[in-house]
Amino acid sequence: MSRLLVSACLMGQKVRYDGQAKTLLHTCLARWNSEGRVVPFCPELAGGLAVPRLPAEIEPEQDGDDVLAGQAKVVDRAGGDVTAAFLAGAAQAVKIAQSRGCSHALLTEASPSCGSSFLYSGHHNGMRRTGFGVTTAALRAAGVAVYAPHQIDALSLDCAW
Ligand code: SF4
Repeated sequence: MSRLLVSACLMGQKVRYDGQAKTLLHTCLARWNSEGRVVPFCPELAGGLAVPRLPAEIEPEQDGDDVLAGQAKVVDRAGGDVTAAFLAGAAQAVKIAQSRGCSHALLTEASPSCGSSFLYSGHHNGMRRTGFGVTTAALRAAGVAVYAPHQIDALSLDCAW
């Protein structure tokens, strides 16, 4: 049975930097969960970060691929370099996806870990830009198809998984 790796915060777990969840209520997700096909996962906690934690962003004009390549950092609001935790979490995500048979992932948008279409600017100024996070980059490199919440209908039509 193919499974779906899902950002833990979308499943109602209070693991975001501010201690909140970002619960996604959708009939497809509820059905997949009842079928035992959902694998909730938070890469930032898996990488060793705490709840709550300072919000972090990938450096301006860089994305998850650049972080994986060692060419960009993830920096928290106080200027702390949290790159190592993000890389560790991304590696864990790939490991879990492979060991649990997750061919697809449904990840929270805009996160420096889980974002798949856009990110925050990297200046901690609330502005958004096109880009994707570190875990998304690692999963894609491992052949996992990553979807954002606004793409869940497309995901439900993708019968391959
Ligand atoms: Fe949610 Fe991903 Fe951030 Fe964890 S790292 S809180 S799963 S968006």
